[in-house]
Amino acid sequence: MSHLLLHGAISLRQDPVMSFFATAEHEKERLQYFASPEGRDDLYQYNQKERRTVLEVLEDFPSVQMPFEWLVELVPPMKNRAFSISSSPLAHPNQVHLTVDVVSWTTPFKRKRRGLCSTGLAGLDPEQKIYIPVWFHKGLLPSPPPLLPLILIGPGTGCAPFRGFVEERAIQSLSGPIAPIILFFGCQNEENDFLYRDFWLFHSQNDGVLSEAKGGGFYAAFSRDQPQKVYVQHKMQEQSQRIWNLLCEGAAIYVAGSSTKMPSDVMLAFEEIISKESGAPRESAARWLRSLEKAGKYHVEAWS
Ligand SMILES: Cc1cc2nc3c(=O)[nH]c(=O)nc-3n(C[C@H](O)[C@H](O)[C@H](O)COP(=O)(O)OP(=O)(O)OC[C@H]3O[C@@H](n4cnc5c(N)ncnc54)[C@H](O)[C@@H]3O)c2cc1C
Repeated sequence: MSHLLLHGAISLRQDPVMSFFATAEHEKERLQYFASPEGRDDLYQYNQKERRTVLEVLEDFPSVQMPFEWLVELVPPMKNRAFSISSSPLAHPNQVHLTVDVVSWTTPFKRKRRGLCSTGLAGLDPEQKIYIPVWFHKGLLPSPPPLLPLILIGPGTGCAPFRGFVEERAIQSLSGPIAPIILFFGCQNEENDFLYRDFWLFHSQNDGVLSEAKGGGFYAAFSRDQPQKVYVQHKMQEQSQRIWNLLCEGAAIYVAGSSTKMPSDVMLAFEEIISKESGAPRESAARWLRSLEKAGKYHVEAWS
């Protein structure tokens, strides 16, 4: 609790509460300046832009002797973090697996920052039992029935929900017919961040649910392993005909991962593929995709 409090972002509002507790004159003045209309921009740079933590602010203003109850007032309520479930309840009853990327970035003042929750989770000791409150919400990716052909696009941690889909279908294949899955994964380097490599490769071989023998496929784009960038949408173009064939068989499309540019690039790639393979103009392809969305067969779950 105290760790999360001290490493959480602080919200130094435009009120002078902290300056009351500063005993060093220069610190008091600085804090009063931050609370003044003239100090507004500097406060924004210092606090919000740099995402300073409670601990960092207390280190910058060591004379501040603030009672704990007052300090808590400066810490905004911690928001919940959502994670896709990356396991199938059929394959792992009573378990929920997560695939968590440790978020990190550099601030305008070149300070290295790490995400609070992802860093906290990555630092847990797997041997140690701990209790974490969790809430389950229905996401935007409904669980597909076994006979629905699937085209899955999941670069980075976007592959998380699809690991669950593949596990589920592998179990379903033991007791009945299943429809094919083709999956497009992407990451920067094959060597460093090829998530679940062995899992995908296992299911791509020996009549696995992603194997070509079963009408499936697994395609990985390693964006930085060659001079020109290669992303999932390039791999999709290479499989243009397979994608079109599956769409003609009634496949549903699922897209998950970064919300930055990926979902719109993927949508454009589908548009190009449909137009090329069907001979229809781009506008008709775009209309066709919109009708797929309306019919509940184009699902996107993206986050920043
Ligand atoms: C529906 C859904 C599903 C998700 N599924 C997954 C999943 O399966 N796996 C997964 O790893 N994550 C997933 N996420 C993202 C996850 O919820 C968290 O946002 C992520 O783990 C970061 O949380 P954190 O506490 O580590 O970072 P925080 O401490 O919350 O820091 C992240 C914040 O830092 C800031 N920030 C981050 N990068 C930069 C930058 N470059 N420049 C400036 N500011 C920046 C932004 O304000 C950002 O909101 C999902 C999100 C949603 C909404």
